[in-house]
Amino acid sequence: MDNSNRHSFDLVVIGAGSGGYAAGRTARDLGASVAFVDRGPLGGLCILRGCMPSKTLIATGDAAYEIRHAGELGVHAGEPAIDFPAVMARKREIIGGFADYRIAGIDTFPVFSGEARFESPHRLRVGDDVLEAKSFVIGTGSTVAPAAIPGLAEAGFIDSDAALELAEPPRSLVVLGGGYVGTELTQFYARIGVPATILIRSGHLLSGEDTDVGEGLTHYFREEGIAVEAHAAVQRVSVRDDGMKVVHYLQDGVEKTATAHEIFYALGRVPNVAGLNLEAAGVEFHNVLGITVDETMRTSQSHIFAVGDVTGRFLLVHIAIQQGEVAARNAIHAAHEEIDYRLSKTHTVFTDPQVAIVGDSEKELQRAGVAYLAASTPFNDHGKAIAIGKTKGFVKMMASPIDGRILGCAILGPDASDLIHEMIVAMHYRATVFDFMRIPHLHPTMAEILTYPAEELAEKITSSRPLAIAQ
Ligand SMILES: Cc1cc2nc3c(=O)[nH]c(=O)nc-3n(C[C@H](O)[C@H](O)[C@H](O)COP(=O)(O)OP(=O)(O)OC[C@H]3O[C@@H](n4cnc5c(N)ncnc54)[C@H](O)[C@@H]3O)c2cc1C
Repeated sequence: MDNSNRHSFDLVVIGAGSGGYAAGRTARDLGASVAFVDRGPLGGLCILRGCMPSKTLIATGDAAYEIRHAGELGVHAGEPAIDFPAVMARKREIIGGFADYRIAGIDTFPVFSGEARFESPHRLRVGDDVLEAKSFVIGTGSTVAPAAIPGLAEAGFIDSDAALELAEPPRSLVVLGGGYVGTELTQFYARIGVPATILIRSGHLLSGEDTDVGEGLTHYFREEGIAVEAHAAVQRVSVRDDGMKVVHYLQDGVEKTATAHEIFYALGRVPNVAGLNLEAAGVEFHNVLGITVDETMRTSQSHIFAVGDVTGRFLLVHIAIQQGEVAARNAIHAAHEEIDYRLSKTHTVFTDPQVAIVGDSEKELQRAGVAYLAASTPFNDHGKAIAIGKTKGFVKMMASPIDGRILGCAILGPDASDLIHEMIVAMHYRATVFDFMRIPHLHPTMAEILTYPAEELAEKITSSRPLAIAQ
């Protein structure tokens, strides 16, 4: 006899993280009956082990850096003392508050706690409960990629989850990976006094970004004492008799080693698909690349949607949220609204200097064969930046040589994650560099710097007919 408890909903959302929660809320606002399934802990990656704890720690690293460099402004404060337990206690308290708030929101829905497992395309089992629904949204997120380097598991290492929870800082670090997780957390630890070496396969940090952005950040990391070893192919890990961990790598054909008390493994994430029994649901997926979705967030089963990290694309909160909203509207209205990645793929990295990108990069424009002009202005040529002593980096704008439409913008610089929003708004309204120059900018402000590449591009476009294509 089957003792399962049966339930029926318009929509069942698996995973109450950023993407899933957005889907559930949107569907309920549209009048649908919605339930969540989550194996816990509730709160989602962003709040519990992602964006928010990392930014909370980074604020401490940045404060230490500012104090060390205040002498340049005539303020002599000496070497700051780091109270690491206090830093972690502050983080725990802040994250606890955010998580409580989110959990209170989730608890306004029916919530089934446990691992979700499809039994058929319309039926999901969670322990003794069987949930049937017209539609499903899968938002089960991602997990740290398994470490496949010989000797690493035996030597022991920390991943981003552990790096956010340490009881005391490591005495020194070798970091494997130069993406946003590796760079942000390494700079935090370096700024509170941990010597760090980052090993990267590519030529610069943030290998996916334009070379000037990635090389710029690499330069500033090295300048503040973080060693970055580029073109390093990690071979294996060993442990010395004194307990030090040794990473063996090949660089330009030469065998080298990097030695530290701890290894921070920051080589990416994989989608959480294990255990969902997606085969029974008829949903196509790949263990590393994630669940296949179209631009309406539908999987290969038209009533099953997937959003956020589990789709393997972008791994950013604002995108997970947007995908969740689109999926919910499509599920409840049987609609075919497509997500618009033109602006959604905007992203930022909270290093110092920060990186923020909107629209297409030069690499993307070149790959797509799109004609463009580019102009950039360094912060060390900008009055306000010089006045406040924040001169690292540059702003770069790309525009169409035909009509001056802004195609993309990259900022490597102070508060880039905030400055970029002016460009997001401009691009939302499909502004040209000519429009942009007519928008008043206060003086002296950091935002004013964006007018300089716009002016340069406008001049190039008006003075270089017939049209030029930037190299
Ligand atoms: C260190 C770090 C820093 C980051 N910083 C930023 C940042 O600054 N900005 C940014 O935009 N992004 C950042 N990210 C990425 C961001 O956190 C993720 O992209 C986002 O949180 C993913 O949301 P999600 O809804 O896809 O999944 P999640 O928030 O991970 O939610 C997945 C949910 O599914 C549940 N679940 C999983 N499997 C099952 C199952 N089988 N059954 C039932 N429930 C299940 C989990 O319990 C969880 O609640 C960061 C990530 C890391 C690791």
